[in-house]
Amino acid sequence: MHIALLSRNRNLYSTRRLIEAAEQRGHTARVVDTLRCYMSIASHHPSIHYKGTELEPFDAVIPRIGSSITFYGCAVLRQFEMMGVYVVNDNVSITRSRDKLRSLQLLSRKGLGLPITGFAHSPDDIPDLITMVRGAPLVIKLLEGTQGIGVVLAETNQAAESVIQAFMGLKANIMVQEYIKEAKGADIRCLVIGDKVVASMKRQAADGEFRSNLHRGGSASVIRITPEERSTAIRAAKAMGLRVAGVDLLRSNHGPVIMEVNSSPGLEGIEATTGKDIAGLIIEHVQKNAATTRKTPNKPKG
Ligand code: ADP
Ligand code: MG
Repeated sequence: MHIALLSRNRNLYSTRRLIEAAEQRGHTARVVDTLRCYMSIASHHPSIHYKGTELEPFDAVIPRIGSSITFYGCAVLRQFEMMGVYVVNDNVSITRSRDKLRSLQLLSRKGLGLPITGFAHSPDDIPDLITMVRGAPLVIKLLEGTQGIGVVLAETNQAAESVIQAFMGLKANIMVQEYIKEAKGADIRCLVIGDKVVASMKRQAADGEFRSNLHRGGSASVIRITPEERSTAIRAAKAMGLRVAGVDLLRSNHGPVIMEVNSSPGLEGIEATTGKDIAGLIIEHVQKNAATTRKTPNKPKG
């Protein structure tokens, strides 16, 4: 197979590992810089141009679209989909996963465990919004934040009210969430490929911090997940339409609750922690599925 890795940077750990894993399995892989792809939409034969020439045909695309370029990256990916190329995660699923509120709404429809979450527009509704999520301490977060940036813990109702007012004043889209105190600063990352959790790790926040993100100084360790956690992660990825996903769960008093579903999960932390060849498993998944779904141009998805 000839595989395109949609990525801005060939030196990133995940990109390097996916290339290596593809080559080890006898495939060719090319890093395609998402922002250097351009396309003519009017054409009868949808195509993608790259640095002056038309891109060669690919059997599969593995998108690694950074959150700062979701819009353009998903447009490029959609073009590949129009051309009938197998994509590991499609543009609609990635777009969904980038909006935390939209994701939670979809997950709630499937009856999956979630922290109580509220969303409002008018500052007049802040007091009731706070009551809705059972009062402070509560978490306020930007709908499109990543790496723990834009996630705030408000310890009192008064603090919550001022922070929410400030965000609303800045026209930032935020949601308000019940604080899962019993998780004690830990979350569980489940790496889902197809319909399996292939690896999981626990991330523990640094001292004095409630956000477990490794970028915020969290530390990772191996964990055994329960059957309920396993099925929650699989159902969450499926509800989002993602074939490869990093599903983050918190252990709450009322079972696993989903934090978010990541469509381009980083491989470095999970491979280092579990010692598993996740890149290899992704390539094997592509190998198995690209062959059976190829060559009928996809119906455009909006
Ligand atoms: P990001 O996309 O920035 O990673 P998350 O929603 O995943 O945003 O939040 C970052 C981290 O903050 C989580 O991994 C978790 O450790 C902590 N956190 C977020 N929301 C809550 C919550 N409602 N209760 C407890 N901890 C939370
Ligand atoms: Mg997160």
